[in-house]
Amino acid sequence: MWSACMRVSKWICWMYPGLELTECSLTRYAGLLAVVGVLVVVALGYVPLVVLTLWPWRRSHPVLATLALLLEHVLLLLLLWSYACAVLIDPGRVTREWSFAVLGWPLELRGSPEAAAAAQQLHVDDPTREMERGLVRKGHDVRFVPNQHIRLPAFVLMRNRSGRYRYCSKCLVYKPDRAHHCSTLGRCVLKMDHFCPWVNNTVGFYNHKFFFQFLVYALLTALTVGAGAPATLLQRLAQQPPDVTAATAALTIVGLVGWVMCLAIGCALLFFVSFHTYLLLKNRTTIEAYEVSDPAKAEAVEALDRGPLLNIVSVLGDRACTWLLPLWPGVDAVGDGIHWAYRRTGMAFV
Ligand SMILES: [Zn+2]
Repeated sequence: MWSACMRVSKWICWMYPGLELTECSLTRYAGLLAVVGVLVVVALGYVPLVVLTLWPWRRSHPVLATLALLLEHVLLLLLLWSYACAVLIDPGRVTREWSFAVLGWPLELRGSPEAAAAAQQLHVDDPTREMERGLVRKGHDVRFVPNQHIRLPAFVLMRNRSGRYRYCSKCLVYKPDRAHHCSTLGRCVLKMDHFCPWVNNTVGFYNHKFFFQFLVYALLTALTVGAGAPATLLQRLAQQPPDVTAATAALTIVGLVGWVMCLAIGCALLFFVSFHTYLLLKNRTTIEAYEVSDPAKAEAVEALDRGPLLNIVSVLGDRACTWLLPLWPGVDAVGDGIHWAYRRTGMAFV
């Protein structure tokens, strides 16, 4: 199992240069149970449609059955591929270097002799002045603290409820627009959507496309199982001995359980796919869907909506032929998760 995971990880690194894998932590190890649960459901769903329906169907309808088997397996491949990417790929982190860089400071000041020298020049012995400059010193350690006097670049539009630049007191970084602190990963995540227990990962900038594709492919798989298997299952349930053996009865029960699970999960997925499609068309994350009702945050959130096509491109990439494939569109197509394109509004750019 572990070596299989390592192989998938290496394959992902090779396929997606520039992207990172999410680090392992105690919470993520515990969350592996949910991942195993998802894979078990996929395996259970395989039985009623492929094993019990399409495979035996080859005898009476060889061409149609082969075509249906091929399509179902392509769908399953896309489902598992996008799922692996959503689980493994890091959603994107806010580095302290970014926070320093946007403030016009050298990349690494914290604790360095340069920091001490910079602090000296700023007369940091005066506490008021020290706070205004955004610096605080503890011994030899110099770090930025949040305050309203700091001027971030014009592309940082989002503010907290008191109108200040958003600062994470846990990571000690200013947050780029759309970034939030994820308590499960214990750090700020670029364009954070939510932590999803079923992918055991936070959905963010770099794995949003894969998460959305996973939802869509999971729904399509559930629909094909839900619609394709009932006739066979009813036929098998109506069978009487001596046609029924212990093995065929067990297979029918497994198929029935798989079909019921697919149906139930498919109903839930209908809601999730509808909701996330709406968010995709509006260029919003789940967090921003709530933030838009907050007058202090609504304008910046609404300014992200540049029309359905551009909004889709900002997540799935600029080549429509790759929208269906779990491929990384590249920084040129979807940006870097820090700089965002906004439509023109009456918003004052700082
Ligand atoms: Zn944080």
